[in-house]
Amino acid sequence: MISILNYIDGKLLPSASGAVIDNICPSTGEVYGTLPDSDAQDVEMAYQAAQKAFPDWAATPVEKRSEILIRIADAIAGQADVLAEAEALDNGKPVSLAQSMDIPRAEANIRFFASSIIHFASEAHISDRQAVNYTLRKPIGVVGCISPWNLPLYLFTWKIAPALATGNAVVAKPSELTPYTAFLLSKICIDAGLPPGVLNIVHGLGPKAGDAIVKHPKIKAISFTGGTKTGAAIASVAAPMFKKISLELGGKNPMIVFADCDFEKTVSQAVRLAFSNQGQICLCGSRLLIQDSIYDRFKTALIEKVSKMTLGDPLLSETRSGALVSEQHLQKVIGYIALAQQEGGEILCGGKRVTLEGKLQNGYFLEPTIIEGLDQHCKTNQEEIFGPVITIQPFSSDAEAVALANATSYGLAATLWTSDVGRAHRLSAQLDFGIVWVNCWLLRDLRTPFGGVKNSGVGREGGLDALRFFTEPVNVCVAYN
Ligand code: NDP
Repeated sequence: MISILNYIDGKLLPSASGAVIDNICPSTGEVYGTLPDSDAQDVEMAYQAAQKAFPDWAATPVEKRSEILIRIADAIAGQADVLAEAEALDNGKPVSLAQSMDIPRAEANIRFFASSIIHFASEAHISDRQAVNYTLRKPIGVVGCISPWNLPLYLFTWKIAPALATGNAVVAKPSELTPYTAFLLSKICIDAGLPPGVLNIVHGLGPKAGDAIVKHPKIKAISFTGGTKTGAAIASVAAPMFKKISLELGGKNPMIVFADCDFEKTVSQAVRLAFSNQGQICLCGSRLLIQDSIYDRFKTALIEKVSKMTLGDPLLSETRSGALVSEQHLQKVIGYIALAQQEGGEILCGGKRVTLEGKLQNGYFLEPTIIEGLDQHCKTNQEEIFGPVITIQPFSSDAEAVALANATSYGLAATLWTSDVGRAHRLSAQLDFGIVWVNCWLLRDLRTPFGGVKNSGVGREGGLDALRFFTEPVNVCVAYN
């Protein structure tokens, strides 16, 4: 049994009340440990520690802050296998995916912001022969970072790294469903010499521990990644308190496939784009829009590949598809498959829960599922399912493809698959999304602005946007005489 503890003021502690939550392994359905069921009392302790640590950390030279963050990144690299295994156990994702994506990206997040803070420069504005203005960027103070379960350490570090690099002290909460790697990170931070109180990790439930962070009157900014409904609830609390907020929310992402695409590459990428991490990546494509002249051929090729996908033990290196994160989430996704059928959809492959053998018999496994025959306005094509379930729809023209792609309340990421460069540029400008990938997916450069429009979020993360979010700009105007 693994006992996860909070990380407050440099110490590993149980919750103040002593209450714990069971930690369940998604591939077996069994409890394999506990985590603190923290409440407002723990958040207050974390805030006090952060507030005490803030002045010294803010005054620490950037080179020194960078050095400590690099030590943390090095330790993540050094413990990559342990962290990848922890992620697979806790989340149900294949260990191979955690090894190739989650953990290297967590390391890269820390390394990237450790480096970019050294190169971060301010703007200056020269007022014609009268004065010089420069933008002084100050850390905000104590900030809150709240992250989801789908990419646990990857998204946790994506938030805390720029917050720490810019000199803030942090109170952070990972998802209660996947707390393990954040706990291992607390030990790494202690060993790397991060001063006590600079980063505090409070484990527990969103509506309790998370809510206490959002409501805390002295926590001045909230960076949140999670569902759109939770984002709206957080905004309704934080906005009247005039907190800075960054919200990275849900998506219903289209993959637009034109007849002139590289057919084989696009079919393979469709499988990856739709079903990586069991479809539980905010950037996964869940609506495949296929030009009518290749619709049948593409559909046949896709079904052939998807039907061959096998589910297995996330901890085995050969497994490529694992379990969904929880029984509750599995039931939600199964509910959407039933809804799709009620709405007139036809299941072309998948659609059922899978019972594996031995210790995996109670795991949360679901067949990758393709559904056809639904129009754009039904709930299946409008609501985020966040599982291994996609719909396919035909289109005939560029204009129809754009209209279908834009016809949801979400606007996170779209992909275009075409060999026509002019069309790629033209359509990229017409798509209402924060991110457009052309002939690729999840190709990330950490310097680029990351985030969505419409119900997919407010603000951007990544590169300069993150450094700017976690600092307060002050314009200093110095007159020449
Ligand atoms: P949730 O919104 O349920 O939870 C996200 C985090 O917020 C968790 O730590 C959760 O804690 C916490 N939380 C829940 N309620 C509150 C509250 N009232 N106040 C403060 N914190 C709260 O999302 P999921 O964890 O289910 O993640 C999946 C969602 O995240 C999907 O919609 C997905 O699209 C989105 N996402 C968006 C990304 C993006 O970059 N745009 C990237 C990845 C995911 P707890 O787990 O304990 O409930």
